[in-house]
Amino acid sequence: MIPNTHTLTSNDAESTLRETVVAALQSHGSLTRSELCDITGETRATISALVNNLLKTDAIRISETQKANGRGRPTQRLSLNRDCAQYLGIAMQKQRASATVHNIVHEPLLSIEVPNPNGIISIEILERTVRELSASARTNRLSLRNLKSIGCAFPGLLPNQRLSLPSADARELAYAIEAFLEDWFGYKPIIEGTARTAALAELRHRPAVTDCLYFRVSDGVAMVQVSASNLVTGTYRLAGEIGHITIDPHGFQCFCGKRGCLETIISNPALCQLAGTQSTFGLMQLWAEGNPEVRRMLENAMRITGAALAHAALITDPGSIIVSWALTQQIPELFAILEESIRNGLLPALRRTIQIEPAILPEVTACSRGAAYMGALGQR
Ligand SMILES: [Zn+2]
Repeated sequence: MIPNTHTLTSNDAESTLRETVVAALQSHGSLTRSELCDITGETRATISALVNNLLKTDAIRISETQKANGRGRPTQRLSLNRDCAQYLGIAMQKQRASATVHNIVHEPLLSIEVPNPNGIISIEILERTVRELSASARTNRLSLRNLKSIGCAFPGLLPNQRLSLPSADARELAYAIEAFLEDWFGYKPIIEGTARTAALAELRHRPAVTDCLYFRVSDGVAMVQVSASNLVTGTYRLAGEIGHITIDPHGFQCFCGKRGCLETIISNPALCQLAGTQSTFGLMQLWAEGNPEVRRMLENAMRITGAALAHAALITDPGSIIVSWALTQQIPELFAILEESIRNGLLPALRRTIQIEPAILPEVTACSRGAAYMGALGQR
Protein backbone atom coordinates (compact mmCIF):
# COMPACT_ATOMS: atom_id res chain seq x y z
CA MET A 1 0.00 0.00 0.00
CA ILE A 2 1.37 3.40 -0.98
CA PRO A 3 -0.21 5.96 1.35
CA ASN A 4 -1.44 9.32 0.10
CA THR A 5 -1.23 11.22 3.35
CA HIS A 6 0.79 11.03 6.53
CA THR A 7 0.10 12.54 9.89
CA LEU A 8 2.52 12.27 12.78
CA THR A 9 -0.21 12.01 15.39
CA SER A 10 -3.13 9.60 15.77
CA ASN A 11 -6.26 10.64 13.96
CA ASP A 12 -8.77 8.07 15.15
CA ALA A 13 -10.12 7.37 18.62
CA GLU A 14 -9.01 3.72 18.82
CA SER A 15 -5.38 4.45 17.89
CA THR A 16 -5.25 7.39 20.27
CA LEU A 17 -6.57 5.23 23.11
CA ARG A 18 -4.11 2.42 22.32
CA GLU A 19 -1.24 4.91 22.35
CA THR A 20 -2.46 6.39 25.65
CA VAL A 21 -2.64 2.94 27.25
CA VAL A 22 0.81 1.95 25.96
CA ALA A 23 2.29 5.29 27.13
CA ALA A 24 0.68 4.84 30.57
CA LEU A 25 2.16 1.34 30.89
CA GLN A 26 5.52 2.68 29.73
CA SER A 27 5.62 5.40 32.38
CA HIS A 28 4.05 3.44 35.28
CA GLY A 29 5.70 0.07 34.68
CA SER A 30 2.57 -1.93 35.49
CA LEU A 31 -1.12 -1.10 35.89
CA THR A 32 -4.40 -2.92 36.49
CA ARG A 33 -7.39 -2.62 34.17
CA SER A 34 -9.12 -0.42 36.78
CA GLU A 35 -6.13 1.90 36.95
CA LEU A 36 -6.14 2.12 33.14
CA CYS A 37 -9.84 3.05 33.28
CA ASP A 38 -9.03 5.83 35.78
CA ILE A 39 -6.14 7.16 33.68
CA THR A 40 -8.00 7.12 30.36
CA GLY A 41 -11.52 7.87 31.62
CA GLU A 42 -12.79 4.93 29.55
CA THR A 43 -15.28 2.23 30.57
CA ARG A 44 -14.20 -1.18 31.83
CA ALA A 45 -15.58 -2.82 28.67
CA THR A 46 -13.56 -0.56 26.33
CA ILE A 47 -10.33 -1.04 28.28
CA SER A 48 -10.85 -4.81 28.56
CA ALA A 49 -11.36 -5.16 24.81
CA LEU A 50 -8.22 -3.16 24.09
CA VAL A 51 -6.16 -5.00 26.72
CA ASN A 52 -7.30 -8.39 25.37
CA ASN A 53 -6.21 -7.32 21.93
CA LEU A 54 -2.78 -6.25 23.17
CA LEU A 55 -2.42 -9.50 25.17
CA LYS A 56 -3.34 -11.57 22.12
CA THR A 57 -0.47 -10.09 20.11
CA ASP A 58 1.98 -10.35 23.04
CA ALA A 59 2.47 -6.57 23.02
CA ILE A 60 1.72 -6.58 26.76
CA ARG A 61 1.71 -9.33 29.39
CA ILE A 62 0.26 -10.12 32.78
CA SER A 63 3.16 -9.42 35.10
CA GLU A 64 1.42 -10.21 38.38
CA THR A 65 -1.85 -11.70 39.61
CA GLN A 66 -3.05 -10.48 43.00
CA LYS A 67 -5.60 -12.50 44.95
CA ALA A 68 -8.86 -10.68 45.53
CA ASN A 69 -9.90 -9.73 49.05
CA GLY A 70 -12.72 -12.12 49.82
CA ARG A 71 -14.77 -13.21 46.82
CA GLY A 72 -14.34 -11.85 43.34
CA ARG A 73 -11.83 -12.25 40.58
CA PRO A 74 -8.10 -11.84 41.21
CA THR A 75 -6.56 -8.58 39.97
CA GLN A 76 -4.05 -8.75 37.16
CA ARG A 77 -1.26 -6.25 36.76
CA LEU A 78 -0.31 -5.58 33.15
CA SER A 79 3.01 -4.45 31.75
CA LEU A 80 4.61 -3.95 28.35
CA ASN A 81 6.27 -6.93 26.72
CA ARG A 82 9.41 -5.17 25.53
CA ASP A 83 10.89 -8.39 24.09
CA CYS A 84 8.14 -8.96 21.55
CA ALA A 85 8.67 -7.92 17.91
CA GLN A 86 5.76 -5.77 16.73
CA TYR A 87 6.92 -3.60 13.84
CA LEU A 88 9.32 -4.29 10.99
CA GLY A 89 11.00 -1.63 8.88
CA ILE A 90 12.98 -2.41 5.73
CA ALA A 91 14.98 0.16 3.77
CA MET A 92 16.26 -0.55 0.29
CA GLN A 93 19.14 1.64 -0.83
CA LYS A 94 21.56 1.37 -3.70
CA GLN A 95 24.57 0.50 -1.55
CA ARG A 96 22.78 -1.61 1.04
CA ALA A 97 19.49 -2.84 2.38
CA SER A 98 18.70 -2.68 6.08
CA ALA A 99 15.98 -3.96 8.37
CA THR A 100 14.97 -3.11 11.94
CA VAL A 101 12.49 -4.79 14.27
CA HIS A 102 10.79 -2.66 16.95
CA ASN A 103 8.77 -3.55 20.03
CA ILE A 104 5.46 -1.91 20.94
CA VAL A 105 7.17 1.33 22.07
CA HIS A 106 9.48 1.36 19.06
CA GLU A 107 12.62 0.32 20.86
CA PRO A 108 14.80 -1.51 18.32
CA LEU A 109 15.18 -5.23 19.08
CA LEU A 110 17.16 -6.32 16.05
CA SER A 111 18.85 -4.52 13.15
CA ILE A 112 20.69 -5.94 10.16
CA GLU A 113 22.44 -4.53 7.11
CA VAL A 114 22.96 -6.36 3.83
CA PRO A 115 25.44 -4.95 1.30
CA ASN A 116 24.17 -4.50 -2.24
CA PRO A 117 27.34 -4.75 -4.33
CA ASN A 118 25.75 -4.27 -7.77
CA GLY A 119 23.96 -1.07 -6.70
CA ILE A 120 20.63 -2.13 -8.20
CA ILE A 121 17.51 -2.19 -6.06
CA SER A 122 15.78 -5.48 -6.80
CA ILE A 123 13.58 -8.19 -5.38
CA GLU A 124 16.72 -10.36 -5.06
CA ILE A 125 18.29 -7.98 -2.54
CA LEU A 126 14.95 -7.74 -0.72
CA GLU A 127 14.73 -11.53 -0.49
CA ARG A 128 18.32 -11.72 0.79
CA THR A 129 17.46 -9.11 3.44
CA VAL A 130 14.33 -10.92 4.60
CA ARG A 131 16.15 -14.28 4.74
CA GLU A 132 19.02 -12.76 6.70
CA LEU A 133 16.59 -11.06 9.07
CA SER A 134 14.74 -14.33 9.69
CA ALA A 135 18.02 -16.16 10.35
CA SER A 136 19.20 -13.43 12.70
CA ALA A 137 15.84 -13.45 14.52
CA ARG A 138 16.15 -17.24 15.00
CA THR A 139 19.69 -16.88 16.35
CA ASN A 140 18.48 -14.21 18.78
CA ARG A 141 15.37 -16.23 19.70
CA LEU A 142 13.16 -13.40 18.52
CA SER A 143 9.82 -14.47 17.11
CA LEU A 144 8.48 -12.51 14.13
CA ARG A 145 5.05 -14.17 14.24
CA ASN A 146 3.37 -11.27 16.09
CA LEU A 147 4.47 -8.53 13.72
CA LYS A 148 1.66 -6.00 13.42
CA SER A 149 2.96 -4.09 10.44
CA ILE A 150 5.74 -3.81 7.89
CA GLY A 151 7.02 -0.62 6.35
CA CYS A 152 9.38 -0.61 3.39
CA ALA A 153 11.31 2.40 2.12
CA PHE A 154 13.01 2.70 -1.22
CA PRO A 155 14.31 5.57 -3.34
CA GLY A 156 12.78 6.83 -6.56
CA LEU A 157 9.86 8.86 -7.82
CA LEU A 158 6.66 7.29 -6.57
CA PRO A 159 3.68 9.21 -7.98
CA ASN A 160 0.05 8.33 -7.31
CA GLN A 161 -2.39 6.88 -9.85
CA ARG A 162 -3.15 10.33 -11.27
CA LEU A 163 0.19 10.55 -13.04
CA SER A 164 2.67 8.26 -14.71
CA LEU A 165 6.32 9.11 -15.25
CA PRO A 166 7.30 7.01 -18.28
CA SER A 167 11.05 7.08 -17.73
CA ALA A 168 11.28 7.33 -13.97
CA ASP A 169 8.22 5.71 -12.44
CA ALA A 170 9.11 3.54 -9.44
CA ARG A 171 5.58 2.21 -8.94
CA GLU A 172 6.20 -1.10 -10.74
CA LEU A 173 9.03 -1.87 -8.34
CA ALA A 174 6.87 -0.73 -5.42
CA TYR A 175 4.15 -3.20 -6.46
CA ALA A 176 6.70 -6.00 -6.84
CA ILE A 177 8.07 -5.25 -3.35
CA GLU A 178 4.55 -5.19 -1.96
CA ALA A 179 3.68 -8.54 -3.57
CA PHE A 180 6.89 -10.16 -2.31
CA LEU A 181 6.45 -8.97 1.29
CA GLU A 182 2.76 -9.86 1.32
CA ASP A 183 3.62 -13.33 0.10
CA TRP A 184 6.36 -13.74 2.72
CA PHE A 185 4.65 -12.28 5.78
CA GLY A 186 0.99 -12.71 4.90
CA TYR A 187 -0.12 -9.10 4.79
CA LYS A 188 0.46 -5.91 2.84
CA PRO A 189 3.36 -3.64 3.77
CA ILE A 190 3.28 0.15 3.67
CA ILE A 191 5.62 1.35 0.92
CA GLU A 192 7.11 4.83 0.95
CA GLY A 193 10.07 6.81 -0.37
CA THR A 194 13.24 6.91 1.72
CA ALA A 195 13.06 10.67 2.35
CA ARG A 196 9.59 10.55 3.93
CA THR A 197 10.43 7.52 6.06
CA ALA A 198 13.71 9.07 7.20
CA ALA A 199 11.89 12.33 8.01
CA LEU A 200 9.43 10.39 10.13
CA ALA A 201 12.25 8.77 12.12
CA GLU A 202 13.98 12.11 12.66
CA LEU A 203 10.76 13.73 13.84
CA ARG A 204 10.19 10.96 16.41
CA HIS A 205 13.37 12.31 17.99
CA ARG A 206 12.13 15.89 17.79
CA PRO A 207 8.61 15.83 19.24
CA ALA A 208 8.49 19.65 19.47
CA VAL A 209 8.95 20.11 15.71
CA THR A 210 5.64 20.46 13.85
CA ASP A 211 6.70 22.63 10.88
CA CYS A 212 9.99 22.12 9.12
CA LEU A 213 11.80 21.23 5.94
CA TYR A 214 13.65 17.93 6.15
CA PHE A 215 16.32 17.83 3.47
CA ARG A 216 18.12 14.63 2.66
CA VAL A 217 21.03 13.75 0.41
CA SER A 218 22.04 10.14 -0.18
CA ASP A 219 21.79 8.23 -3.47
CA GLY A 220 19.34 10.95 -4.47
CA VAL A 221 18.23 14.33 -3.18
CA ALA A 222 14.81 14.98 -1.66
CA MET A 223 13.02 17.25 0.74
CA VAL A 224 9.99 16.68 2.94
CA GLN A 225 7.83 19.54 4.08
CA VAL A 226 6.25 18.97 7.47
CA SER A 227 3.32 21.29 8.03
CA ALA A 228 1.21 21.17 11.22
CA SER A 229 2.60 17.66 11.89
CA ASN A 230 1.62 16.42 8.44
CA LEU A 231 4.07 15.19 5.85
CA VAL A 232 3.02 17.10 2.74
CA THR A 233 2.63 14.76 -0.24
CA GLY A 234 1.07 17.05 -2.88
CA THR A 235 -1.40 16.47 -5.71
CA TYR A 236 0.62 13.73 -7.43
CA ARG A 237 2.63 12.56 -4.38
CA LEU A 238 5.63 14.43 -5.74
CA ALA A 239 5.90 17.26 -3.22
CA GLY A 240 9.44 18.05 -2.12
CA GLU A 241 11.29 16.84 -5.23
CA ILE A 242 13.91 19.56 -4.78
CA GLY A 243 16.46 17.19 -6.31
CA HIS A 244 14.92 17.86 -9.71
CA ILE A 245 15.05 21.63 -9.81
CA THR A 246 17.26 22.72 -12.70
CA ILE A 247 20.65 24.09 -11.70
CA ASP A 248 22.40 23.78 -15.07
CA PRO A 249 20.17 23.45 -18.18
CA HIS A 250 23.18 22.12 -20.13
CA GLY A 251 24.34 19.78 -17.38
CA PHE A 252 24.26 15.99 -17.07
CA GLN A 253 21.19 14.01 -18.08
CA CYS A 254 19.05 13.15 -15.04
CA PHE A 255 17.01 9.94 -14.79
CA CYS A 256 13.87 12.09 -14.45
CA GLY A 257 14.14 13.20 -18.09
CA LYS A 258 15.63 16.65 -17.45
CA ARG A 259 19.19 17.94 -17.52
CA GLY A 260 21.36 19.44 -14.82
CA CYS A 261 19.04 18.71 -11.88
CA LEU A 262 20.36 19.43 -8.37
CA GLU A 263 20.56 15.65 -7.89
CA THR A 264 23.00 15.27 -10.81
CA ILE A 265 25.34 17.72 -9.06
CA ILE A 266 25.19 17.12 -5.30
CA SER A 267 23.91 13.55 -4.70
CA ASN A 268 26.49 11.22 -3.15
CA PRO A 269 27.03 9.24 -6.39
CA ALA A 270 27.38 12.49 -8.41
CA LEU A 271 29.98 13.93 -6.02
CA CYS A 272 31.86 10.62 -5.80
CA GLN A 273 32.01 10.34 -9.56
CA LEU A 274 33.31 13.89 -9.92
CA ALA A 275 35.96 13.28 -7.27
CA GLY A 276 36.89 9.89 -8.73
CA THR A 277 36.16 8.00 -5.52
CA GLN A 278 33.88 5.07 -4.71
CA SER A 279 32.15 6.22 -1.55
CA THR A 280 31.22 9.17 0.65
CA PHE A 281 33.89 7.91 3.04
CA GLY A 282 36.41 8.38 0.21
CA LEU A 283 35.12 11.93 -0.31
CA MET A 284 35.55 12.69 3.38
CA GLN A 285 39.10 11.36 3.27
CA LEU A 286 39.97 13.54 0.27
CA TRP A 287 38.49 16.51 2.14
CA ALA A 288 40.52 15.68 5.26
CA GLU A 289 43.70 15.38 3.17
CA GLY A 290 43.05 18.90 1.89
CA ASN A 291 42.65 17.93 -1.77
CA PRO A 292 42.06 21.41 -3.28
CA GLU A 293 39.78 20.26 -6.11
CA VAL A 294 37.58 18.21 -3.81
CA ARG A 295 37.47 21.06 -1.30
CA ARG A 296 36.37 23.49 -4.01
CA MET A 297 33.83 21.03 -5.38
CA LEU A 298 32.24 20.33 -2.00
CA GLU A 299 32.16 23.99 -0.98
CA ASN A 300 30.47 24.76 -4.29
CA ALA A 301 27.95 21.94 -3.69
CA MET A 302 27.09 23.51 -0.33
CA ARG A 303 26.52 26.94 -1.88
CA ILE A 304 24.31 25.58 -4.68
CA THR A 305 22.32 23.55 -2.16
CA GLY A 306 22.06 26.50 0.23
CA ALA A 307 20.56 28.69 -2.49
CA ALA A 308 18.03 25.98 -3.44
CA LEU A 309 17.03 25.43 0.19
CA ALA A 310 16.65 29.17 0.76
CA HIS A 311 14.19 29.26 -2.15
CA ALA A 312 12.29 26.33 -0.66
CA ALA A 313 12.19 28.09 2.72
CA LEU A 314 10.94 31.34 1.18
CA ILE A 315 8.09 29.42 -0.44
CA THR A 316 7.13 27.25 2.54
CA ASP A 317 8.01 29.42 5.58
CA PRO A 318 9.25 26.60 7.86
CA GLY A 319 10.23 26.93 11.52
CA SER A 320 13.37 24.92 10.95
CA ILE A 321 15.45 23.19 8.30
CA ILE A 322 16.90 19.80 9.21
CA VAL A 323 19.69 18.50 7.00
CA SER A 324 20.35 14.77 6.69
CA TRP A 325 23.55 14.51 4.68
CA ALA A 326 26.52 12.42 5.76
CA LEU A 327 28.95 15.07 4.49
CA THR A 328 27.46 17.89 6.56
CA GLN A 329 26.82 15.64 9.56
CA GLN A 330 30.47 14.55 9.57
CA ILE A 331 32.22 17.75 8.45
CA PRO A 332 31.11 20.81 10.50
CA GLU A 333 32.98 23.15 8.15
CA LEU A 334 30.75 22.07 5.25
CA PHE A 335 27.64 22.40 7.37
CA ALA A 336 28.70 25.96 8.24
CA ILE A 337 29.02 26.87 4.53
CA LEU A 338 25.64 25.32 3.79
CA GLU A 339 24.01 27.13 6.70
CA GLU A 340 25.49 30.47 5.69
CA SER A 341 24.34 29.97 2.08
CA ILE A 342 20.80 29.21 3.22
CA ARG A 343 20.70 32.22 5.55
CA ASN A 344 22.05 34.54 2.83
CA GLY A 345 19.12 33.61 0.61
CA LEU A 346 16.44 34.22 3.25
CA LEU A 347 14.62 37.46 3.95
CA PRO A 348 16.90 39.49 6.25
CA ALA A 349 14.26 39.37 8.99
CA LEU A 350 14.31 35.54 8.88
CA ARG A 351 18.07 35.04 8.75
CA ARG A 352 18.52 34.54 12.48
CA THR A 353 15.03 33.19 13.12
CA ILE A 354 14.85 29.92 11.19
CA GLN A 355 16.72 27.09 12.88
CA ILE A 356 19.07 25.15 10.63
CA GLU A 357 20.39 21.92 12.10
CA PRO A 358 22.05 18.68 11.05
CA ALA A 359 19.86 15.59 11.45
CA ILE A 360 20.27 13.65 14.69
CA LEU A 361 19.94 10.20 13.12
CA PRO A 362 22.53 8.72 10.77
CA GLU A 363 21.25 8.08 7.26
CA VAL A 364 20.86 4.28 7.33
CA THR A 365 19.34 4.15 10.82
CA ALA A 366 16.82 6.83 9.85
CA CYS A 367 15.61 4.85 6.83
CA SER A 368 14.90 1.46 8.37
CA ARG A 369 13.60 2.88 11.67
CA GLY A 370 11.45 5.33 9.74
CA ALA A 371 10.05 2.43 7.71
CA ALA A 372 9.03 0.69 10.95
CA TYR A 373 7.28 3.89 12.13
CA MET A 374 5.65 4.27 8.72
CA GLY A 375 4.28 0.73 8.92
CA ALA A 376 2.94 1.39 12.42
CA LEU A 377 1.21 4.57 11.25
CA GLY A 378 -0.29 2.73 8.29
CA GLN A 379 -1.76 -0.13 10.33
CA ARG A 380 -3.88 2.20 12.46
ZN1 LIG B 1 15.98 15.22 -12.41
